[in-house]
Amino acid sequence: MMTLRKDTRPVTLGGLRLGGQERILIQSMCNIKTAKTGEVAAQINRCAALGADLMRVSILDDEDADSIPALKAATSIPLVADIHFRADLALKVIAGGIDAVRINPGNIGDESKIKAVLDAAKAKHIPIRIGVNGGSLDASLDPNLTRGEALIASAKKHVAICEKFDFHDLVISLKGSSVKETVDAYRLAAEAFPYPLHLGITEAGPMETGLIRSAAGLSPLLLEGIGDTIRISLSEDPEEEVKAAKRLLHDLGLYPNFPTFISCPTCGRTEVDLLPLAKKVRAYLEDHNIAKTVAVMGCVVNGPGEAKHADVGIAGGKGHFVLFKKGQIVKTISEEEAFATIVEALEK
Ligand code: SF4
Repeated sequence: MMTLRKDTRPVTLGGLRLGGQERILIQSMCNIKTAKTGEVAAQINRCAALGADLMRVSILDDEDADSIPALKAATSIPLVADIHFRADLALKVIAGGIDAVRINPGNIGDESKIKAVLDAAKAKHIPIRIGVNGGSLDASLDPNLTRGEALIASAKKHVAICEKFDFHDLVISLKGSSVKETVDAYRLAAEAFPYPLHLGITEAGPMETGLIRSAAGLSPLLLEGIGDTIRISLSEDPEEEVKAAKRLLHDLGLYPNFPTFISCPTCGRTEVDLLPLAKKVRAYLEDHNIAKTVAVMGCVVNGPGEAKHADVGIAGGKGHFVLFKKGQIVKTISEEEAFATIVEALEK
């Protein structure tokens, strides 16, 4: 059953719609200085090939901002410029053809600067993402607020400035590094704002912790229909973030065109070398984007039955495997033949 999405006011980035009832977009962020245009473009293109819908780049200085036209020419997915405090850089990247800007209007100076950025964005139909981060909350906020309430209060300040200037092409994020606080904040945001929400757990750590934190935080929200775009923040290269986002959305039933891979944890019954094979098969499926269900199981006692919905599977015996399809055993194969037999069965 499809999750009912909370309806939000869609925005458009480089021809891509974000929000409303559109599919949930996957994004990541480049981890190379933006002025290194060739390297950044190559990273963006790798992420796009893996399934990123949009990518964010940091704009720290004029050199970075000046590289946007060349970066746009060398890439094909929408790009978001991440800018703090400097309205002049926002104006420069908007003129340079950027597709969206992440900037917090309350932090860029007096009203004339804010108005200039909002007017420039409006003239080019570019959305602005207001990104509130738990690590840099406004010191003037009421200290009695919970962290979730403080994130919302901070976002409301920035949103009010935009609305005062009749600017409504907004996307909002409220990232904290605590799962509970971030989930609370996004639930409040879904009630408080009509704008699309960018979901993420910030500073979630390397793969081992980051995947768990992000899945723990994003899953309840996505299952409640909250969230229009996601980033799985990892202390890894952005390619890993894109792969992780696809896996999470797929497991929640929100990204259908993706492999479903099943493998057992192994136990005392396992009499084959299962773990390397499981990793190899999963990588093959994802690398070739084979949207089928494949099972790699340790034994024939439970294997085919536990994975009876698999299109193709193998289950271990004593130094050999049996091939099964839809839970029915087809033939016996050696351990050496296992990987090639799965590939052949998938090709058929
Ligand atoms: S499928 Fe067989 S080997 Fe794997 S965990 Fe279950 S019982 Fe153990």
